Amino acid sequence: MGRVYNFSAGPAVLPEEVLKEAADEMLDYKGTGMSVMEMSHRSKAFDTIIKEAEADLRELLNIPDNYKVLFLQGGAHMMFAQVPLNLMKNRKAAYIVTGQWAKKAYAEAQKYGEAVKVASSEDKTFSYIPDCSDLQIDDDVDYVYICENNTIYGTKFKELPNTKGKDLVSDVSSCFLSEPVDVSKYAVMYGGAQKNIGPAGVVIAIIREDLITDDVLPGTPTMLKWKTQADADSLYNTPPCYGIYICGKVFKWLKKQGGLEVMKERNEKKAKILYDYLDSSKLFKGTVEPASRSLMNVPFVTGDADLDAKFIAEATAAGFVNLKGHRSVGGMRASIYNAMPIEGVAALVEFMKKFEKENLK
Ligand SMILES: *Cc1c(COP(=O)(O)O)cnc(C)c1O
Repeated sequence: MGRVYNFSAGPAVLPEEVLKEAADEMLDYKGTGMSVMEMSHRSKAFDTIIKEAEADLRELLNIPDNYKVLFLQGGAHMMFAQVPLNLMKNRKAAYIVTGQWAKKAYAEAQKYGEAVKVASSEDKTFSYIPDCSDLQIDDDVDYVYICENNTIYGTKFKELPNTKGKDLVSDVSSCFLSEPVDVSKYAVMYGGAQKNIGPAGVVIAIIREDLITDDVLPGTPTMLKWKTQADADSLYNTPPCYGIYICGKVFKWLKKQGGLEVMKERNEKKAKILYDYLDSSKLFKGTVEPASRSLMNVPFVTGDADLDAKFIAEATAAGFVNLKGHRSVGGMRASIYNAMPIEGVAALVEFMKKFEKENLK
């Protein structure tokens, strides 16, 4: 079997070009006679890999000089703890709960202090982003936390919340590098690589320098203190070397495509193909309020669980894979990250049209 159209939410599709390049370099990376998997993280070759990866990421996102870039491990889940451990000086933080991931981060923060839920969209199964223009943000909170793109529910903040001057922490796992952003509006932005950037095992954190200090909660493990990682340029211990190498290749691929402006245009075009069809279909419908729709994760249903299952089975057989919705919500979800070509989305819509014709009663 050849390559399929992979709509997985994560680990997810990567650019074919990147995979081919990695394959070419598998046995002998640039004349070193070894794979990147086999080389010391202290070697000259790896030093170049990680430095170039950081430089390219800085260029793509236009990251200001007063921000550090850290390549970490432990997934987004580990960040759910690292954020309060490193930032909760007053032991109080505001959380905007717009889905499972924000909910988990909020629950984790409660272990360390008072996490205040200042807004939520749980009343309508997280199908929208609440109005965050004038929330009650207490003066003594250390930060305001959001999950910017809700991978499971398919919603996205189109506007950042008004934090009333407090530091904003954002989980951008599933929208990382999908469009240009103004990094200076964030105190911390972080994301697991396995959604839109690279293989699982790497988490990238972009942190304003003044927040990287020794003043962390008592008992914070050495490894989870950002200063440990920042002082060592992400090489305090053995980093996820191979993952970082692939992320670096994806950054170069993004630069070659024309950068994040081009990706944004392309992502909008891709998502529009799918949403326009969902809006016109008599069989399928999107589950998210139009104003909150994600460009990356598109959930939809037929309203009949058996028909959903039939659709997923037939789509899989036709080479459109991983369309099953998250186990907590059911239905379908097409994740259409940077590396999903526009042809993949167009072909999926054609397949959905055919299925609609055959199954509409
Ligand atoms: C996938 C995902 C997570 C969880 O990531 P892990 O790497 O499994 O910890 C957290 N937040 C968002 C937005 C995600 O998409």
